[in-house]
Amino acid sequence: MYSDRDVDKGKGGTPPGLEEYEPVIGLEVHAQLLTKTKIFCSCPAEYGAEPNTLVCPVCLGLPGALPVLNREAVSMAILMGLATHCEIAEESVFARKNYFYPDCPKNYQISMYDKPLCTDGYIEFELEGELRRIGIERIHLEDDAGKLIHLQDGGSMVDFNRCGVPLIEIVSKPDIRSPEEASAYLMMLRRILRYLGICDGNMEQGSLRCDVNISVRKRGSEEFGTKTEIKNLNSFKAVEMGIRFEIERQISVLRSGGAIEQVTNLWDATEKKLLTMRRKEYAHDYRYFPEPDLLPLVVDAGWIEEVRERLIELPLEREKRFREQYGLSPYDSGVLCSEKALADYYEELVSIVSEPKVCSNWVMREVLAHLNEKQVSIEEFAISPARLAELIKLVQEGTINQTAARDVFEEMLSSQQSAGEIVSKLGLEQISDDSELEALVDEVLAENPAEVEKYRAGKVQLIGFFIGQVMKRSRGKANPKVVKEILQKKLG
Ligand SMILES: [Zn+2]
Repeated sequence: MYSDRDVDKGKGGTPPGLEEYEPVIGLEVHAQLLTKTKIFCSCPAEYGAEPNTLVCPVCLGLPGALPVLNREAVSMAILMGLATHCEIAEESVFARKNYFYPDCPKNYQISMYDKPLCTDGYIEFELEGELRRIGIERIHLEDDAGKLIHLQDGGSMVDFNRCGVPLIEIVSKPDIRSPEEASAYLMMLRRILRYLGICDGNMEQGSLRCDVNISVRKRGSEEFGTKTEIKNLNSFKAVEMGIRFEIERQISVLRSGGAIEQVTNLWDATEKKLLTMRRKEYAHDYRYFPEPDLLPLVVDAGWIEEVRERLIELPLEREKRFREQYGLSPYDSGVLCSEKALADYYEELVSIVSEPKVCSNWVMREVLAHLNEKQVSIEEFAISPARLAELIKLVQEGTINQTAARDVFEEMLSSQQSAGEIVSKLGLEQISDDSELEALVDEVLAENPAEVEKYRAGKVQLIGFFIGQVMKRSRGKANPKVVKEILQKKLG
């Protein structure tokens, strides 16, 4: 869960025709904000409650109910705007987007239209070792709709708990040129949201949702082709696969002399295919107009400065610093900085052990293997940096060897005892005493005369075999470095 390099590249590889046509891709990402209450009422904005228990006249759209704007939702939107280098508008305006759908009891969504809160920013990330910059057209606030639950035997139910949960919509410029780039952009967007603590980024639960606009054009052409839309892309894999399918489809239509129709496609996650809905959709269909129940949103310089205080070092900067300050590889820094809490854990560990590479190995291997296996986050991890640091120090001081350290680590997961206590309890102290080890070496050499002869005849790689035998005999407790020295002395 902490690796961003294992995104399945989908099927089909590079779509044919790319030497002739260039894809032009833009993403519209909806992110649920982690406010305590909804955007226009004081109902809790929680996930997973009993259906229709977190509702009130405002979020149910009952006649006469009036919205009251949640200040924290605005602050979070400004924070995202600052993190993505946007202009923050002094005055922005909420607008009604009118449409009928059973999950929307008001029959309109309160969104922003021609005067959004944040405009003209960018997000940077690295893709295959190259820095890429994708423009942000706008970030605006809006309220979420409810949720329809379709029953297997027909019929549907509606849960209005989600109605009025604050959303920001982050609209990229059409700067993306490949499915991989779209996925990498979305990955960085999600990381920034999670670093800032304003969205949990859970795509399965729908707190982060992605729609894509795609067109293709002849290479060298400045003009955009007709674009189509894909909705419902609920995983990174779906984003890559959906875009790849649509690029292939558009290129094959154009190559056979056809024209692209402006359609909306739905991603079918089960069948892994696109379902095309022949529906044209224009802004004027929604009959946008300024929301009469809300004043224009005025954000003064003081508010922006107050939010700026909450800006922290963002993932890409932190990744770069990890490489420079700790001498880590791009891969290790990327994984360690994928989550703020993981990067914090690592830095706390290094501050005690001050061996950046050794600490990175422990976190990248033992710690992440455990988290991935148990599907838990670093916040839920049982071993604090201070406890792990003690274990690493025992290895560095030669009290235990690496094999024993892994056993101690396993034990620490379910025990509150310190590494030192576990080492004594299990009797894992390394045997570094020469006379004890010499006796073991003598036994091994006596039992393997044929190998001894081969070694002396020049097959020196057999040293590994002898070390292994001694380690086995000591039940893993021998100090392998000392064993090697004794063996070389006795065999040489
Ligand atoms: Zn409410």
